[in-house]
Parts: sequence; structure tokens; C-alpha cells
Amino acid sequence: MSESGAAREWTRAIRLIETSSGIYVATHIRPDGDALGSLLGLSLALEKAGLQVAALCADPVPSTYAFLPAVDWILSSPPDWQADVGIVVDCDGLARVGALEPALAGLPSLIDLDHHDTEQAFGQEQLIDPTAGASAEIVYDLLREMELPLDAEISTCLYAAVLTDTGRFCYGNTTARSLRIAAELVAGGADPHAIARKVYEERSMAATHLLGVALSRLAATTDGQVVSSVLRPADFAETGASSSDTDGIIAHLRAIGGPRVAILFVEPDHDAVRVSLRSDGSVDVSEIALEFGGGGHAMAAGCTVTGKAELVERRVLDAVSLALNRPSEQDAG
Ligand code: 5GP
Ligand code: MN
Repeated sequence: MSESGAAREWTRAIRLIETSSGIYVATHIRPDGDALGSLLGLSLALEKAGLQVAALCADPVPSTYAFLPAVDWILSSPPDWQADVGIVVDCDGLARVGALEPALAGLPSLIDLDHHDTEQAFGQEQLIDPTAGASAEIVYDLLREMELPLDAEISTCLYAAVLTDTGRFCYGNTTARSLRIAAELVAGGADPHAIARKVYEERSMAATHLLGVALSRLAATTDGQVVSSVLRPADFAETGASSSDTDGIIAHLRAIGGPRVAILFVEPDHDAVRVSLRSDGSVDVSEIALEFGGGGHAMAAGCTVTGKAELVERRVLDAVSLALNRPSEQDAG
């Protein structure tokens, strides 16, 4: 029953898109590779199919992703024409689009395209698949279903998205489907070597210094089950790094063998702390992030918490420690 329900949802969503007079495609604040790759891949494909499209993201594009085709096309606020359909990609909850929320919430039709295992679904139609390694895998399926061609630009965007959200095809969310889609995207013109170099091998000196600061502050707590680090406002000033230069630092913490949870606390300015959480799979960190108003996936989640940094850090560490010591999760681990 749910199968045919899902199939009907896809049919209705495709009809909405194909008969639209104008579409806003949007993604989340502090965009990552999947957010931007899905946004651009989908927007480009729809535009090339002759639809009127605006690609929207309230926050700036981190320099790592400046190589993506058509990246300059992204607007931080809605254009001067009115859309009748919105497609929101990679957002567990409409609030994740930040300042764009009122413009999207007011549209006649909204489609939620996402791979979060979420209770925050929104919109008339939901193309949600938590088994997808990246939202871009769902975009890929949608374009195939709509029989839209994948050129090198679209393939590059979607490949970068799948690559980054599956941690270079290493994380637990990597499936045969992720790899099959990646293969199709390479056949469609995505260059795996060039994209990997851009995403992983062009870190700036400032960002590398910031990584060094984070690594110099590693702290193990909860009997070695948690490893964490912090970045303060002064670290950004001293290294010249920007707040998006923290991308990828958590992967180094996650790579340490032994701890079950890795946490990076980032205090870009003085009134809020960005918390990144990673798990080895034995504890669901999205539940912890949710307690603090954030969300994410079981093994990768985050939140932004207002308050004094030391207090926020203490509260998050306590919540993680509590989750780790819950009997059921220890059994599962
Ligand atoms: P990161 O630690 O890389 O910033 O975020 C990891 C994942 O957690 C993201 O892919 C996203 O799914 C989720 N996430 C991060 N920050 C937030 C947040 O503030 N709210 C929600 N709902 N999810 C977040
Ligand atoms: Mn994603």
C-alpha cells in the first residue's frame, strides 16, 4: 500500500513540476556538498527543460564549492517573479531554509525532497527516502523519472553531492545504489578526480591552520568514549579562517579509533555555539541534536545553541554521556 502511495506521490510531484509557471528550488542554511549539489543539479535540469527556475540558499556558498557549475546563479533571497511551486532539498524541516522560510511557506505548492529520517516533513508532496545516501540520489531518480537528460554540468553537481554526503563512499549510508548512481554520473560527464581534488585537496592555508588549532585541543571525556574539540572567536581572527573553513574538521575527530562520539564545538562569534556530532553507529546522535533544537542523521548531526560557550559545551557533553550510558544503546553497540 505504501509503495503505491509513494508512487502516486511521485506522479503528483512530477505533474506539479511539469505544469508549473515558475519554480523556486531551495536548500538549507550553512549549505554542504549535498545541499548545493542537489540544489544546482535539480535547478539546472529543470531550467534546461524550459522551466522558469530560481535556485535559492539564504547563506553564502563556502569557497570549497565555488567550482560547482552555475554556482553564481544561486540567490540568497527570492527573485522579482513569483513562483507557483517550491522544491526544498535536503532539509529536515522547512525552518532549515532560514530567512527564505516565509517566501517558501507562502507558495501554492511545496515539495519536500529529502533523505533525513525525519518527523519534520512538510509540503503538499514528499519525496523522502531515508535509505538514500544523499538527497542528490533522490534528485537523480526524479530526473530519470521525468526523462530529463543528464549533461556534464548536472552530473558534476549530483556527483559532488553523493561524494560528500557518503564521505567519499565510506560512510554507513553508502549503498549499491549510491555507487550505481555515481557510476551513471561519471558516464554523464562528472570527473571524479577533478571533483575530489576541488572538494578535498584545495584546503587554504588559513583553514589548515584552523584545523591545526582544533587538533591541538583534542579532549577525551566519558572514559574515552567521547572526543571533542573547540574553536573560539579568537582562533578565526588569528588564523584568518572563515566559519565555513570548519568543514571537514570533524572528519579528523571521527577518524580517531576508540571514541564512540566525536564533537566539534565552534564559537564563530560570542552569542552561539555550533555543535557538530558524529557517532560510530552505536548511538543515534540526531536524537541528541534534536534535544538542542537541531537534527540530522543517526551518525552525523548538528545544532546551534545560544548561550555561554562553556555552559553549552557542558550541557551537550552531559547529554552525550547520558545517551552513551543508556543500557539499550550499550547493548546495541
Ligand atoms: P554538520 O555537523 O556537518 O554541520 O551537520 C551534520 C548533519 O547534521 C547535516 O548534514 C544536517 O543533516 C544536520 N544538521 C546540522 N546542523 C543542523 C541544525 O541546526 N538543524 C538540523 N535540523 N539539522 C542539522
Ligand atoms: Mn544530505
